[in-house]
Amino acid sequence: MPKEKDDLMEKIVSLCKRRGFVYQGSEIYGGLAGTYDYGPYGVELKNNIEDLWWRMFVRERRDMYGLDAAILMNEKIWEASGHTGAGFADPIVECEKCHHRFRADHLENKKKCPDCGGALGEERQFNLMFETKVGAEGAQKSYLRPETAQGMFVNFKNIIDSFHPRLPFGIAQIGKAFRNEIAPRDFIFRVRELEQMEVEYFVRPEAWEKSFEEWRSEVYRYTDAIGIPRSQIHELEVPDGERAHYSKRTIDFEFDFPFGRKELYGLAYRTDFDLSSHANASGQDLSYLDEEKKERLVPHVVEPSFGVDRTVLAILSSAYTEDELGGEPRTYLKFNKSVAPIKAAVFPLLKNKPELVKKARKVYESLKADSSKLKAIAWDDNGNIGKRYRRQDEIGTPACITIDFQTLEDDTVTLRNRDTGEQERVSVDSLASRIA
Ligand code: ATP
Repeated sequence: MPKEKDDLMEKIVSLCKRRGFVYQGSEIYGGLAGTYDYGPYGVELKNNIEDLWWRMFVRERRDMYGLDAAILMNEKIWEASGHTGAGFADPIVECEKCHHRFRADHLENKKKCPDCGGALGEERQFNLMFETKVGAEGAQKSYLRPETAQGMFVNFKNIIDSFHPRLPFGIAQIGKAFRNEIAPRDFIFRVRELEQMEVEYFVRPEAWEKSFEEWRSEVYRYTDAIGIPRSQIHELEVPDGERAHYSKRTIDFEFDFPFGRKELYGLAYRTDFDLSSHANASGQDLSYLDEEKKERLVPHVVEPSFGVDRTVLAILSSAYTEDELGGEPRTYLKFNKSVAPIKAAVFPLLKNKPELVKKARKVYESLKADSSKLKAIAWDDNGNIGKRYRRQDEIGTPACITIDFQTLEDDTVTLRNRDTGEQERVSVDSLASRIA
């Protein structure tokens, strides 16, 4: 990795820790590889990412059904879906000298250990699912789900029976998934406990290409909404032989991460693979009756899959900016308003002037109460104004509001823009709409 990109990753990781976005999981015990905890600003950012996704792909549509399925599922599901077999295994190699393990398909030289130069052993397949036991005697084997998708396939019949949807329609879900990655790395890019936002979109078999194209543009509508620049997203048509076992066509949406161009999202045509496999394995009828055409069929599936953690990282790395303001260097996160963890911060110019503090409190409380969209309002009265601006810049707050002596006379405040540093005088009454 070029030095400056390496530095960028380090700066992002350190900002995330310092300012309460993302912490190493189990940190006080030395950590647990591949796990991270989201701090107060991280969780706001993540919730904004998920809320917007849910709003765009579930609430605003008429053809979508939300779901929150259990993480633990009957082990037969993972047999039918192909996950217990070779389909969900990665090739692993171990160094005979230092015993470090690597994903063989990520190595340029498959003979020599990249860490110590020792000889690498035989390549073998390693299944990524976490196994667990269910019940007091641990009588039943289960797995932590490695994708949210199967929860939607096994509830297909329930949705049909309760809602009688017409094709095409989709089931959407946001939730945790677990993969025992051989080499978790690159901060929250490759983790062992991750979160996904997935849609299984059910279509007539002959309509899959049309849906595939629609979802392809929906991916960009979403990345535009959360502020990931299109110039940093690149499509990769995944060739035959490299696609997941269930897919007949896959596009990876890759993003220019500081450590290279890597998969951000996937769009896959899963055919009727999953519904047919579950119908065979469970003995249940998972077909759909097309009443207009008087035809029974097993729908085909187009699946857009969005990783939440990778979205957080893509947003952080595209938003991270260093510039100079008022002759001084500064670091700020150029978040799109829609995802910024804090929408605005309110400051009394001076902390030791009770009349300013009182007025500022009033403005702060009214903005906070104004509407649910504006809840993420911060208060800061610590240090000089310049320092407070910098603190908000660093967490990507788009607007800062300062209450000064003039406010007491004419009920106006200064509204400062994060990106330009420019300040304007606006009336207190107009604040809510200006920030929204
Ligand atoms: P990769 O090739 O990078 O291992 P994948 O092709 O196995 O990823 P999918 O099975 O398509 O990934 O998973 C769908 C989405 O879930 C990915 O596009 C990504 O956003 C997210 N994802 C998958 N694995 C991880 C992981 N270990 N850590 C964080 N996000 C992940």
